[in-house]
Amino acid sequence: MGILSGLKRLGLGSLENEDIYEADKENSKQRSKNDTAGTPKPKPEEKDLIYEKSYVCPVCGSGFTSKVMKSSKARLVSTDQDLRPRYDVIDAVKYDVVLCTTCGYGALGSSFTHISPGQIKLVKEKICSKVRMGNYHNEVYSYEEALERYQLALANALVKRSKASEKAFICLKTGWLLRGYTEYLKESDSPKESVEEMETQENEYLQNAYKGFLEARQTENFPMCGMDELTIDYLLAALAMRFRQFDVAARLISTILTSSSASIRVKDKARDMKEQILRELKKR
Ligand SMILES: [Zn+2]
Repeated sequence: MGILSGLKRLGLGSLENEDIYEADKENSKQRSKNDTAGTPKPKPEEKDLIYEKSYVCPVCGSGFTSKVMKSSKARLVSTDQDLRPRYDVIDAVKYDVVLCTTCGYGALGSSFTHISPGQIKLVKEKICSKVRMGNYHNEVYSYEEALERYQLALANALVKRSKASEKAFICLKTGWLLRGYTEYLKESDSPKESVEEMETQENEYLQNAYKGFLEARQTENFPMCGMDELTIDYLLAALAMRFRQFDVAARLISTILTSSSASIRVKDKARDMKEQILRELKKR
């Protein structure tokens, strides 16, 4: 079972056994917090922190809306070691995929309009003609709906032969989404099995993100998915830590610590990680 095993339910079963980075070697030859200080106000709910944004689908031409987080209203509380943002009240990650509910074309908001005529043809043929999407009419995106949106974004990236970095970024964010889903399931006292299932899936997606960003670092230029080289190196170090590749993490961390252009914040995070690596190596 791989990370694409959910695609059969969406009518895209033929993509299930694809290797998501397989086509990249050929392809590579060609080509943002707010503080609302002051008097206590009634706490906003998730629905108050999103709005319906209008889009025109570059594949089928339909007009549609996707729910988008009001980044000026949402309050960032912290970030996890692998840079997953944690907001008060809302899980921002649920709102990062833009999806045309008419034809099934979807991508991360930042890359939604970047699609060539050749890629449109591929999406029409391999997604639009087959896809069966869930019927959701909620005020906010549930984790289930958000996960389906991410699965479709990855299927689209696969079909249109996106760069490794684009696929890796979708995998990274899906991993973050699944972490949020796991936390939500734990809070709602869900059965242990469903929590474990989400944790397993999170690991699979993050493994794929790790693999994809390692490859992209060798073959693509920076900035990558809006991240500069040091941020990507930091992210890779965090993922390497998770998968106990301490030598890889240590090498990346020392690059960051000796860099003259790394910000104090990134260096602080890198120093914390270095201590963690040293502790882990001592245990051996
Ligand atoms: Zn469309």
